[in-house]
Amino acid sequence: MHEPPLERARLLDAADPLAAHRALFVSADLAGAAVVSYLDGNSLGRPLKSVAPALASFVETGWGERLIRGWDEEWIQLPTVIGDELAAAALGAAPGQTLIGDSTTVLLYKLIRAAVAARPERTEIVADTDNFPTDRYLVEGIADERGLSVRWVTTSPDAGLTAEQLAGVLSERTAVVLVSHVAYRSGFLADLPELTRLSHEAGALIVADLCHSVGSVPLELDAWGVDIAVGCTYKYLNGGPGSPAFVYVRHALHDELSQPIQGWLGHAEPFAMGPSYEPAHGVRRFQSGTPPVVGMLAMREMIALIGHAGIRAVRTKSVALTEFTIELADELLAPYGVVVTSPRQAAWRGSHVTLDHPEFKGVVAELWRGGVIPDFRAPFGLRVGLSPLSTSFDEVAVGLGAVRDALARG
Ligand SMILES: *Cc1c(COP(=O)(O)O)cnc(C)c1O
Repeated sequence: MHEPPLERARLLDAADPLAAHRALFVSADLAGAAVVSYLDGNSLGRPLKSVAPALASFVETGWGERLIRGWDEEWIQLPTVIGDELAAAALGAAPGQTLIGDSTTVLLYKLIRAAVAARPERTEIVADTDNFPTDRYLVEGIADERGLSVRWVTTSPDAGLTAEQLAGVLSERTAVVLVSHVAYRSGFLADLPELTRLSHEAGALIVADLCHSVGSVPLELDAWGVDIAVGCTYKYLNGGPGSPAFVYVRHALHDELSQPIQGWLGHAEPFAMGPSYEPAHGVRRFQSGTPPVVGMLAMREMIALIGHAGIRAVRTKSVALTEFTIELADELLAPYGVVVTSPRQAAWRGSHVTLDHPEFKGVVAELWRGGVIPDFRAPFGLRVGLSPLSTSFDEVAVGLGAVRDALARG
């Protein structure tokens, strides 16, 4: 027989080799605002304690003392310096291909536009119907702008784009394939190496949205041959609300791709202030304006921590957390009609688990008032986000116990 969930959680936490990392995050258990279970690190990661001193030191000795000299001395390089740190810790990418800047939405726009322009004889963008709204809206807009069409693949809300589905729509018309590595709703983990291989076989470019995988799922972008990847830094990279996104562009494509927002900082010689645009060589050509330096500081702390813990160890804990979540959902919540809509096989799952029940909208609002914080995605989905370095098994047991109690109260 099983021990009670809280007992099992305690044993799992005691055996967790990454457990010590939890103490490095700011505690939300302060008087009056106790958060007993934070299950939304997939939407907004918790801050590391080292962020406050890093920001204070930047204000005092960076911005405060170096003033405008800081740009020449350090800041102008930060988008690629931190990009390379991220590439080494979490992207499986060699230096010189990753840049921090803009939002995910803006970077996706710039790079999808660049990619379709690089396949001028082709007329279709392939995307799936359950991709994140911004991704879907962007391809609609770009298709309108460029006289292209979107080839929509209808994916199930409890899965995502499969290799079989992609193989069925690729053709000599396909310019670009856009796919989320981990589906934001179901948590489905796409077979990105195979999707990349198929896209290339058809002569298309692939753009991967890594928002829900970077920092929780190991990536081998260079080895897989991914062309372009964009991802958020405020989710599993704990960069803070609105921290800038990153873009990876495979080295061999740099000179072939021209992005549409031709700003001075993507210029080959920005400070020559020349009469007309000439893109930089290398990944800097995908930059447009002044980089958001203050917004890049917090993620740097988390990138270093992921590098230190090792992304494979992070994934091992992520899998253990999602397995435990599914085990408790079956045990505590299935009797109330709750359905697990994320893949049950760990190999096909990212770091969150989605549970469905028609009452969940109200349940989530009630949970938030009690310091249990998952999130809700229409129509019925309660997402349990598991941020491996900051989430404990205890939080999972407390959180799912609270969901059960709320459903039992009716
Ligand atoms: C969170 C998320 C975004 C968000 O884009 P922003 O420009 O940062 O608002 C985009 N795509 C996916 C798949 C996401 O999960």
